[in-house]
Amino acid sequence: MSKNILILPGDGIGPEIVAEAVKVLNALKDRFGLDVSMDEGLVGGAAYDAKGHPLPQETLDMAKACDAILLGAVGGYKWESLDISVRPEKGLLGLRSELALFANLRPAILYPQLADASSLKPEIVAGLDIMIVRELTGGIYFGQPRGIRELENGEKQGFNTLVYAESEIERIVRVAGDIARKRNSRVCSVDKANVLECTELWREVAIRTMEKDYADIELSHMYVDNAAMQLVKWPKQFDVMVTTNMFGDILSDCAAMLTGSIGMLPSASLDANSKGMYEPIHGSAPDIAGKGVANPLATILSAAMMLRYTLDQDEMADKIEAAVNKVLDDGLRTPDIMSEGMQEVGTAAMGDAVVAAL
Ligand code: NAD
Repeated sequence: MSKNILILPGDGIGPEIVAEAVKVLNALKDRFGLDVSMDEGLVGGAAYDAKGHPLPQETLDMAKACDAILLGAVGGYKWESLDISVRPEKGLLGLRSELALFANLRPAILYPQLADASSLKPEIVAGLDIMIVRELTGGIYFGQPRGIRELENGEKQGFNTLVYAESEIERIVRVAGDIARKRNSRVCSVDKANVLECTELWREVAIRTMEKDYADIELSHMYVDNAAMQLVKWPKQFDVMVTTNMFGDILSDCAAMLTGSIGMLPSASLDANSKGMYEPIHGSAPDIAGKGVANPLATILSAAMMLRYTLDQDEMADKIEAAVNKVLDDGLRTPDIMSEGMQEVGTAAMGDAVVAAL
């Protein structure tokens, strides 16, 4: 049955990079019979300008009705002085909460051709391929009570609450288990079970869930401080890592930066039925918007993730990833990943090259 993709280009370089991903999807439709339809909607600053709100009802309705969303990026200087309730970022946060996207997938992949871009030694990172699964709608970022209160002695005290119900832990651990099945069958659950009771429960539920339904997956555990250390010491030991909202926030940025190139990394946010919103990890890069130099590969790879994790089209996803590998092998580079001896190309030429390599 044909699947419907909602395309949300957004702001800044968003429309430029999304156009290249759409080119790739259209090529898969024309040449390999990928059965999808695409509709386009407004989000972020572009939606504010046209409709007075960063997430117009019309866009939200389309987002709820579609099978998957491909988003560029939102935000820019133009909208920075707006009231916080209508800033472009509200469009993105609104989509995440309205669609209950509780699982954030952040791969850190370093193509061997780009190993020089990392701040770590090439032998430590070349060929790196980790998937960090971060819980996105619970934990200390949302726990109650929270605030800043005044103590009896007049001193102020800030407080937040780390909470996870068993069901919240189980559903994110299941996402990690399902993803590990599509990869190398290993999950490392990251917690601080030696100090925090909440993550003691996290570990207990992780073990119970995996033993019951994922006996084919190897489960290990690591304290978050050690995980941070291991990520920079020997990152290739990991396959899938699953962790809480805050630990995942920190570890996924650390892992992303191991690769040294923000223009290369895709991400996904999934709901309980694997419906997802897919987007590059970078922002709208207003400093280079409209210049035709943005790297479209993170968005093209986001489309590949969408095919793999929501649309169950692994073969089509493989084709995109192989094509990206091929253009890198051929020496094509946008300015952000340019190095000596390579051929510098712009956004559209990079998209065309991926289409040609498919
Ligand atoms: P950014 O990721 O947009 O840019 C950081 C740096 O990386 C810039 O120098 C930019 O030119 C470069 N860069 C980013 N993507 C690139 C690409 N594809 N190719 C080449 N170079 C690229 O982060 P920022 O500058 O902190 O934020 C700019 C705007 O983006 C802000 O309004 C911010 O709120 C927004 N933002 C949006 C998202 C999102 O939509 N998910 C995420 C982060 C930031």
